[in-house]
Amino acid sequence: MEKVVIIGSGCAGLTAALYCARANLKPLVLTGNQPGGLLTTTTIVENYPGFPEGIDGYELMTRMQKQAERFGATIKSGTVESADLTREPFLLTVDGETLQTETLIIASGAGHRHLGLESEHLLENKGVTYCATCDGALPIFRNQPLVVVGGGDSACEEAMYLTRFGSEVLLVHRRDGLRASKIMAERTLAHAKIKPVWDSVVTEVLDAKQDKVTGVRLKNLKTGNETVLDCAGVFVAIGHVPNTQIFRGAINMDETGYIIPVRGTATNVPGVFVAGDCSDHVYRQAVTAAGLGCAAAIDVERYLAARNE
Ligand code: NAP
Repeated sequence: MEKVVIIGSGCAGLTAALYCARANLKPLVLTGNQPGGLLTTTTIVENYPGFPEGIDGYELMTRMQKQAERFGATIKSGTVESADLTREPFLLTVDGETLQTETLIIASGAGHRHLGLESEHLLENKGVTYCATCDGALPIFRNQPLVVVGGGDSACEEAMYLTRFGSEVLLVHRRDGLRASKIMAERTLAHAKIKPVWDSVVTEVLDAKQDKVTGVRLKNLKTGNETVLDCAGVFVAIGHVPNTQIFRGAINMDETGYIIPVRGTATNVPGVFVAGDCSDHVYRQAVTAAGLGCAAAIDVERYLAARNE
């Protein structure tokens, strides 16, 4: 039986692993289907303290993993399919196998939000993607007009990255101003290859019949006008949805799936703690996720110490 299992290997999970390992709890980290978490899909991380020149997201996560392993954390590839939190020890089913643990830290992060269009679904991986750093360099996108949807930091980051490959990048946003941080917004709008398309939403990705992306149908929310923009790729960057579905009904969460802690990182189930983007819809930064991972590990350590007194 494990003392502590950590679900997720992003900033929150790996920081929790580091602290748990240094407290001699021999944590087991289950990576989920995106080892290293969302940060591995970004390019340069410029706002993680300690790296004045910035650091590649993948490298930062590799370093965090090595640091946790150095002190005794075990990192195991696996996705939790179900969790029985009504019994002690807790029972997890991970890729068909079961494992038991005294405590659990949920650091399962968040996945990409989809537009929810049928055409988007049909053309996923055929020109519709959620990750410019993963897919931007593909030949189909080279020297072609590309569309990025969204107005936050992610959309700006995707648009900037895609300027390396596309002939132009059309940033489609539903309002007439970006939500992104000032520095990112200014940098993005100043780029010669990026053209904002304000007040507009994608109503259809074209062309499912041809089985590839040829454009997007847009609706201007102020005028109601419909237009078609030609493009070879659609990069959707409209935020995230917490990966908490398997805990619905067992752990308190809001209607969008963000887990609501009851005190510190403790949840409504004693012995289950939460950290990072799956419980934070306010700050959602690498450094705040890491901080919450640290807090969850300390809470686990104190919980186990109190139980064993
Ligand atoms: P976000 O800040 O929530 O922005 C999502 C954007 O998508 C918003 O502009 C939103 O429009 C738009 N949107 C949401 N649902 C939509 C829909 N159904 N159709 C069309 N547009 C929709 O998400 P994010 O950009 O992924 O950023 C998440 C967090 O990570 C933020 O805290 C951000 O600061 C952080 N982050 C930081 C960096 C960095 O510092 N380098 C990079 C990436 C992310 P509205 O504006 O109208 O709501």
